[in-house]
Order: sequence, then C-alpha cells, then structure tokens
Amino acid sequence: MNATPLMPAALWPRTLAVTRHALETGALQPITTEARTLPIANTTFQVRVLGRVALKERKRPAPPVGAEPFNPFANPEPDLVLGTVPPAHVCLLNKFNVVEHHLLLVTRAFESQDALLTHADFDALSMCLEGLDGLAFYNAGETAGASQRHKHLQLVPPLGPDGLRAPVEALLPPLPGPGRVIAAESLPFAHLLAGLGPWGAPGQGERMLAAYRLLREALGLGEHAPYNLLVTRDWMLLVPRSRAEHLGVNVNALGFAGSLLVRTPEQFDAVAELGPLELLRQVAGVTP
Ligand code: AMP
Repeated sequence: MNATPLMPAALWPRTLAVTRHALETGALQPITTEARTLPIANTTFQVRVLGRVALKERKRPAPPVGAEPFNPFANPEPDLVLGTVPPAHVCLLNKFNVVEHHLLLVTRAFESQDALLTHADFDALSMCLEGLDGLAFYNAGETAGASQRHKHLQLVPPLGPDGLRAPVEALLPPLPGPGRVIAAESLPFAHLLAGLGPWGAPGQGERMLAAYRLLREALGLGEHAPYNLLVTRDWMLLVPRSRAEHLGVNVNALGFAGSLLVRTPEQFDAVAELGPLELLRQVAGVTP
C-alpha cells in the first residue's frame, strides 16, 4: 500500500494520477448511469439511473453461510490508494464509483460504521476538504445506506449545479454562527443545519466535531441511531433516518444532498411523480 502521508496540495493531483492508473489496471470499475434531473425550487436535483449492465455487474456471489463478510477496507487495494492521512486514516478511490473521483477516507484499524465520529475523523476530513473543496458525507449504519461495516467517510468533487458543492446547497438559509443549529424551512424532512465559521482558521477538525455533537444532541440521536451527515467547508447537515428505502429506492447521504440513484427508468418515473423531497421525507426520521 502507498504509505506516503497525503498533504492537502497533493490530494487532487494524486486523485487524478491514481484514477488514471487504476483505470489502466482495471482496479477502478466505474458504474455507468444515465444522468437525469428534476427541478426543485431554485435548484436541480440529480437522479442517476443505473443501466441494465451495471445491475448485472453489481451482483456478487454471497459469502458462504456463517463466513465473515469480506472487508474491502481492512487491506485496501494498492492501486486504489492515494496515501495515508496520519495518524489513523487511509484515503483511497471508491472502486465502484458512480460519480467521478469519489474518495473514501477509511480508518486504518477497524472501527464500526455505527460508532460515533471522532476528533481524528474530523481532522482527517478537514485535511481532505482543504485539498478538495467538495462534498463530504457519512452514512451511519445500514438504514442510512452504508454497505460496509468498516468506518468510511466519503468525499466527492462539487456536484453542482453551477459550482455548488451539492444541489441542496441552493435551498439552505443563511448559515447560523458556530454554537447554533437551525432547521431550513425549505427542507421538509427531519434535519438540522450548523454553520462551521470561516474556513482555514486553526482547529478546523475540532470545530467540526463540536458542530457534529451539537447537531446530534439537538436531534436527540441515540448512540447507534442511523443518520446521514453532509459536510462542506462551510456547513454541516444531519438527517436522522427511519428507513433505508421508499418505493424500492435506497437513499443514502447523497440523496439528501440532492443526488439520487435509482435502479430502473420506472423507479425514476415513480420518484418524479412523488417528488424527491417527499421521498426524502419518507426515509428520514422524526424531529424531537
Ligand atoms: P457505502 O455503500 O456508502 O457504505 O460506501 C462504501 C463504498 O465502498 C461503496 O460505494 C462501494 O462502491 C465501495 N467499495 C466496495 N468495495 C470496495 C473496494 N474493494 N475498494 C474500494 N471501494 C470499495
């Protein structure tokens, strides 16, 4: 594995170089989708529709009964690894990416995906956000869309439209100052929003941790309760979860960012008819 510690300035060039190499060796296996959009207020939500080929390719043989499921992050594939993020994380490419340049930030030693995020997690995340001003997210638990049990944060380049980190960014109100959380009137699902103050001041990881704790506390989240977290340099949005799917559409943090993934054109039609915000309301939890 590439044990070189990653510096913020190296993150994007390494992403491009490792992507090029991993495509050549076949380590990276992007999933092809058809990109569609749905207008919501002053923004556009994205809905990616999986092709039939992608559906077939994703089916993997189930592990033998009683066997531990394979953990892809215990020893990440060397061709996918960008480098370490000292002291406790490794940054690698998502092997089956739908969005281009999708990064994973995994703990070196096993930690559970439904464990609380730590100071070390947010320090590592702020290093990555310093190198790429994109959208970070976390799917806490299976109900929140996690497919792997080993702790992994995720980071994608800005999803747009118009340079936004995510479509939902256009729906957010002016951000509250540090130490306060608010609900956005435009978002009809259970959630709370925190502002992270000016980017770049020392102690960024600590400020993120404080915002995360405040959001959890204000929402009354139990220690292992499922939730999705969206994080940019400026804001953090936490959504408690009650269900993994509605209408057969599985929703993870990217759904709440305004970027959904459906398996068939029929599912797209169902989401368009219901409205994506209503779909999100159905799978979010309840506000205390
Ligand atoms: P999630 O499904 O949100 O829990 O994120 C886990 C991600 O890990 C998925 O998007 C998978 O595409 C990705 N993944 C699965 N196996 C590997 C692997 N061997 N190396 C890197 N990424 C992987």
